[in-house]
Amino acid sequence: MTSSVDTFAQLGLSEPILQALSDVGYETPSSIQAECIPLLMEGKDLLGMAQTGTGKTAAFALPLLQKLDVSQRFPQALVLAPTRELAIQVAEACQKYAKHMPGFHVLPIYGGQSLGIQLKQLQRGAHVIIGTPGRVMDHLERKSLDLSQLKTLVLDEADEMLRMGFIDDVEWILEHIPAERQTALFSATMPEQIRRVAQKYLRDPQEVKIKAATSTVSAIQQRYWQVSGLHKLDALTRIMEVEDSLDAAIIFVRTKTATEELAQKLEARGYAAAALNGDMNQANRERVIEQLKSGGLDIVIATDVAARGIDVPRVSHVINYDIPYDVEAYVHRIGRTGRAGRTGTAILFVSPREMRMLRTIERVTRQNISPLRLPTKQDVADRRVTQFKQQIIKTLEAGELSFFEEVVTQIEEEANVGAHEVAAALAFLVQKSRPLQMPEKEVRSFESDAEGRPERKERFERPERGERFERKDRPERADRAERTERPDRGERPDAKKGKGRDLGNVANMVRYRIEVGRNQGATPKDIVGCIANEADIQSRYIGHIALFDEYSTVELPDSLPKDALMMLKEVEIKQCPLLIHRLDGESEVIAPPRRKWGGDVDGNRAPRSNAPGGKGGFSKPGFGNKKPGGGGGFGGNKPPAKRRTPREG
Ligand code: ADP
Ligand code: MG
Repeated sequence: MTSSVDTFAQLGLSEPILQALSDVGYETPSSIQAECIPLLMEGKDLLGMAQTGTGKTAAFALPLLQKLDVSQRFPQALVLAPTRELAIQVAEACQKYAKHMPGFHVLPIYGGQSLGIQLKQLQRGAHVIIGTPGRVMDHLERKSLDLSQLKTLVLDEADEMLRMGFIDDVEWILEHIPAERQTALFSATMPEQIRRVAQKYLRDPQEVKIKAATSTVSAIQQRYWQVSGLHKLDALTRIMEVEDSLDAAIIFVRTKTATEELAQKLEARGYAAAALNGDMNQANRERVIEQLKSGGLDIVIATDVAARGIDVPRVSHVINYDIPYDVEAYVHRIGRTGRAGRTGTAILFVSPREMRMLRTIERVTRQNISPLRLPTKQDVADRRVTQFKQQIIKTLEAGELSFFEEVVTQIEEEANVGAHEVAAALAFLVQKSRPLQMPEKEVRSFESDAEGRPERKERFERPERGERFERKDRPERADRAERTERPDRGERPDAKKGKGRDLGNVANMVRYRIEVGRNQGATPKDIVGCIANEADIQSRYIGHIALFDEYSTVELPDSLPKDALMMLKEVEIKQCPLLIHRLDGESEVIAPPRRKWGGDVDGNRAPRSNAPGGKGGFSKPGFGNKKPGGGGGFGGNKPPAKRRTPREG
């Protein structure tokens, strides 16, 4: 920002490096690069503070590469990075920047990889070692890593290393490498302990500080959706169907299990999605990131730790499905998009009780996060029509259709119809798995959900514990069940009765416990809607609902059919399994049936069959062509065969 450096050449970098930078498409140095590169080339120690995504890797890697003596095959530089992913990433970056330096060798070493392989690689020699602290320490102790000729040490993401408990290892390493060296320490923040390390181990360091919330964060458009009415999963798929310029997305959740669950659900809906979490072994994690890069995957559902530092330029969207624990995590998360000078979009799902966190994020990042209007089902349908048309036009433009024209002519002749009608029939067939139209009544009911009715919000925000929702219009006992069957308050009888089975007169109501409560964002309306739909009973058979923080109770008829209860065992509200069970002592022992549907509770209706297949909404040429189907679960269509997600090869 402050510098007047426009080109890398002005920084005095050598020809091979300039060539490599032009190959990767960097035009001008970023602020941190413009400031750090000259200092590091002079041999100064350096303390660099800059947010994620500001280009720190090149800031330290370029001077380090420039100073290497490639003819000497021993480690001349060591970079310590907090995670394996980051170590690999830095190594890859070095490789790119050193593309025109023949004989150059960089070696990432990290825990989790076989020591044997690493020992072999170390024996072969490398000019630059990028390692995680633990593994570097291991090798130093085993004397399999000789750093006696080390000239440069870089501590990348020092605060992260501190946070992950590596600081002792880092200090140990600092004490076991040559004191005559150049040291650079990079960190997004400067906690006391990092400052102490810097004071102790850096010699008269130059400080370079790039102010927070610079171009990178502002290149990210941030929006939030206040969770209400609609299930998060449905909101997510709708957003992804309608969102412009969606190429690839990283979706953040809080737990490892949630990464897997959500990945499965999105896969079932036809998205090329996979989980990324700390339980996965290194090879699998690398494969996932590789596939995200190459386009084999479009969505990665990740935990904070697993996704830290991922640099995949095609990630256009970061979706905070679960809100992060702190602002720092939020900034790390959204920094996964808007990479390499591109713009990015960050979407945050916030439950009403998390609104305060949203405001904190806005305050700390000094960025406004604007509310997102949830797309309606009609928006989704409109979008599909547009994409469908585009797809047809692209296909026409691509040509090579003479065989198919011949077939159409034959149909015209044989069925005595016009090409227009044939085309309409074909369009109908093609869209079946990813319907272009939706039933009239769904449009209405979903629109009201999407807009979030005010009365619904009020309920969400009610603070008391264990509040009791008297379902006044519904029976608790048989007598009331009978009574409410009669229309009252001038409503149409069928409106009151609703859909679902008529269980006749109910003699007894029984209390059940379900494992979703206020903290999961459940509302009585969600519960009624879900149970009525999934158990396929009229909603008037649902009695008292009491909402507690972590669970709820609901009264259901004693005579509830077994299949209904079995169905309910499978159901989720707000992504939480109901795990319904009776509270009257004798516990129901019913084996859950095999999964019948993807587990979404979409407002008051849960489509029994999702339509898997197809990449909902990723507007890529010919999406839906090879891989039809998918998306937002318009009811009533038979699911087509599940599309294979392209994996390995
Ligand atoms: P940080 O370590 O600060 O989080 P990185 O070094 O990972 O940032 O860089 C973030 C992204 O920006 C990477 O995709 C990188 O290739 C790209 N990048 C870095 N420097 C430049 C530059 N001068 N011009 C364009 N893109 C750059
Ligand atoms: Mg970095």
